Amino acid sequence: MGRYQLRCLHCNQTLADHYTLRCHDDALLRTEYQEKRLVMRDLPGLWKFQEWLPVSGSMEVGDAPATYRSEGLARELGLHNLYISFNGYFPERGAFIKTCSFKELESPPTFQRSAEHGNGTLVIASAGNTGRAFAETASDAGLPLVVVIPESNMYRLWITNDIPDSIRVIAVDGDYYDAIMLGDRIGQMDGFRSEGGAKNVARRDGMGIVMLDAVLCMKTLPDHYFQAIGSGTGGIAAWEASLRLIEDGRFGDRMPQLHLAQDSVFAPIFNAWSHNRSTIAPEDVPDKSQIRGTYTDILSNRNPPYAVKGGVADALADTAGQVYAIDTGEARDAKRLFEDAESIDILRPAAIAVAALCRAVGSSSIDTDDTVLLNITGGGLSRLKEDYAPNHLSADLLATDEKMDELMEVLLL
Ligand SMILES: *Cc1c(COP(=O)(O)O)cnc(C)c1O
Repeated sequence: MGRYQLRCLHCNQTLADHYTLRCHDDALLRTEYQEKRLVMRDLPGLWKFQEWLPVSGSMEVGDAPATYRSEGLARELGLHNLYISFNGYFPERGAFIKTCSFKELESPPTFQRSAEHGNGTLVIASAGNTGRAFAETASDAGLPLVVVIPESNMYRLWITNDIPDSIRVIAVDGDYYDAIMLGDRIGQMDGFRSEGGAKNVARRDGMGIVMLDAVLCMKTLPDHYFQAIGSGTGGIAAWEASLRLIEDGRFGDRMPQLHLAQDSVFAPIFNAWSHNRSTIAPEDVPDKSQIRGTYTDILSNRNPPYAVKGGVADALADTAGQVYAIDTGEARDAKRLFEDAESIDILRPAAIAVAALCRAVGSSSIDTDDTVLLNITGGGLSRLKEDYAPNHLSADLLATDEKMDELMEVLLL
């Protein structure tokens, strides 16, 4: 085998990677790396973790998160070992992710893996933050990209570079799930390639960098991991990274407990998990008209990888995980608390995670000496605007069924 192979979590076979996204439909593939220890490479940014990314080479672009020990929020909450993984722009703490979310940990490994396995323009469906991250990486690296995004989320689509000719933007009159469906259709056309979402090991192992960077700072696996989720892919990634780190042996042998938080208005994973369901039932999924009532629509995924083998339900079961449904009021309070205590602005989804941490502390479900890793999945947007002027992308087409012919013309990159 090469540096890594892919294991199907249904049939247990291992496969060589040909940008493979599936073996059996009811299971994820998982990367198995030949190197069982977390070995750092002498490469810039997130590529120092290349040994545990499903790639052979590296590209120029890609910043790592910054993990630091909290003082302000830790004091407010009475926690003695609270660490923050800051995925955004916070130069004072060494965080330089310019599109301000952890989606930018996914985009460089995904482009790199795709480039190593043939051609095809990547197609990415996004509620906004993913499109922004992939567009930033594509513009940094001079790569073509198609972004499919709900029209109402276009305002989130900007980059800090000049807008290149090689990015096409298709706006959809619908929600994130509608964008995913259209993205899949475009991805099946000649010359295009779906990035694959949670099925793409490059995306998950990219997000897993949060845990890898954290153990380098903490010298141990955390007892608890807090994150806001929509699809839950970041939760799966944190679990998989922890499995590898336990196998490494130097960071302890206890699996961190996952604490995953959803917006209470749109919480299919919370609903399914709290009813002990192994699959998401139709009644767990709110109607898409509910999205307007959420504190943040970024987490409104109607079809998360929950029941699939190796998915969110397995991750929760294996980590004795908990799921929270956070109300708008709690999230607002948590955002203010965090921003005052840590002197940096955060995105709304990240406030949902902070609120879950506040609840866990309030209900004494974590011990004040426990090691806690709080994933601030996005932040520093106000801070960024002091240093950069974001350039907004505009839609090349508003996709409707009648316009599928025009769509083809627009996509001729
Ligand atoms: C995508 C996103 C999330 C949710 O991530 P998943 O693990 O894929 O559910 C949380 N916060 C921010 C800022 C995001 O962009």
